[in-house]
Parts: sequence; structure tokens; C-alpha cells
Amino acid sequence: MKVEVLGNVQDGGVPHLGCDCDVCEKAREDPREQRYISSLLLKENSNDDTVRYLIDATPDIRQQIDGHYLDGVFLTHGQPGHMSGLLYFGKESMDISSLPVYATEKTRNFLMKNDPIRYLIDRENIVVKEVEDREEQLLQGGTLEARSLDHRHVNTDCVSFMIKGEDKTLFYLSDTDEMTEKIVESIEEADIAIVDGTFWSKDEIERYEEVKHPTIKSMIERFSDLDTDIYFTHLNHTNPALRENSEERHQLESRGFNVVRKGDEFEI
Ligand SMILES: [Zn+2]
Ligand SMILES: [Zn+2]
Repeated sequence: MKVEVLGNVQDGGVPHLGCDCDVCEKAREDPREQRYISSLLLKENSNDDTVRYLIDATPDIRQQIDGHYLDGVFLTHGQPGHMSGLLYFGKESMDISSLPVYATEKTRNFLMKNDPIRYLIDRENIVVKEVEDREEQLLQGGTLEARSLDHRHVNTDCVSFMIKGEDKTLFYLSDTDEMTEKIVESIEEADIAIVDGTFWSKDEIERYEEVKHPTIKSMIERFSDLDTDIYFTHLNHTNPALRENSEERHQLESRGFNVVRKGDEFEI
């Protein structure tokens, strides 16, 4: 199985509405500087009957996938940056038929109560299927398992995914409030981990406590002895490590960590 990276920034994207920082200004001037919201595409190696699963449907979805041969969407949680792309599967856009969308019971209930999404469900553009914590889903060429975690400022569950291919295991964590022991165990269990790197440090934004995420600065200390290859994703537009030539980016790379980019592919 191959895992393709479709985006690497936080829900607000780059450029970020209401921001005049040089990263956002540059992205408005030059489309090549735009960065899409965190999402992955799981696909088979064979070319013809390729099976493809999307992890999260972002508002950038039109630039991230062509929509062909999609066999399902797995949702990490119900925040707009991770599910509002589902709207493009509806009548006014692709008008897809019966696309399976996999979510926990709480996220499923949240989707059912959301009128624009409910419209897609009623028209059978999408069919929302329930996944349970630690229940293994069989994909062609591997398995995927949802693992619940705390992301308190959302009103749905939030999950990470352990994806097992024939050769390797990849752990995906887009959002979490903090790096708990349980999450660290999942990172250690995997060969490759793509994890929440929203902020470099706590003083990066004024309302950090309101929108908490573990900081890259603390993680590169804490994870320095792990054997897992660790990549960061879901970077906020304010995160200096998003700039490829920044001191912070060099610092994390020199310590053996990386930031994923759209188009990166992992064979697992
Ligand atoms: Zn997010
Ligand atoms: Zn900005």
C-alpha cells in the first residue's frame, strides 16, 4: 500500500483568512506558496483497479484529489478543516453515489445533525458507517485501526489511525491537545509516524491555551531516542518550521525529524 500526503497545514490553511504575515501574503501572491490542509490518500500499488481511501475531507479537497476511484473516506473528527470537503461530493459538485464515510458514533451523530451534510446522506451521495475504537478495518493491501484520543475543544470524538501495510506500519495523528502516554505508545509501535505539529512553541500565538496542541519544540526533545521515523503535519501558518529555510526547520531536520509536504509518498 502507498500513503500519499495531500496537505500539511492546520484547518485554516495557508493563506489564512485575516492574516497579513509574510507566509500568508506570499501565498496570496503566488499559488505555488499555498499550502493545503492535512489529509492523506491510501492507495494500492496496482494501476487499474486501484483502491483509494481518503483520510479527512478538507475544504481544499478540489486541489487535493481528482475524485476518481474513491472507495471511502475515514474521518479523524468533525472540525470543519477535516470534514467540510464532504460537501463537494454532493449534488452541486461531483454528485457521487453511496460513498462510504467512516466515523465514530459521536462523529456520525454530529454529521447527521448538520443540515448540509444531512442533505448528502438523504440523497445517498454518502453513507456514514460507524467505526469503533481499535476495531480493525480491512483494506485491500492492509488494515486501518482508529484509536481515540483527547481533543477537548471539538464536539465530536477525535481519533488517530494506525495503518498497517504488508511491510510497514504508519501512525497518523492530525490533532491532539497533548502528547499522552497512550499516543507515544502508538508512535513507538509504528515504523513511520506523521503527527500533529501545529505549533513550534507555546508563545507563537496569544490564544495558545484555547487551541492547545503539543509543540514541535517539546516533541523533538521527548522523541529523540525513538526508532520511529517522525514527520510533522498540520502546521499552523504561524509555525516557523513551515518555512523551509528557517532556523527552526533546520533544527528539527538536523535532529532527524521532518515536515511532510504535499506529494510525499510512503510505501508501507
Ligand atoms: Zn485540525
Ligand atoms: Zn499568516
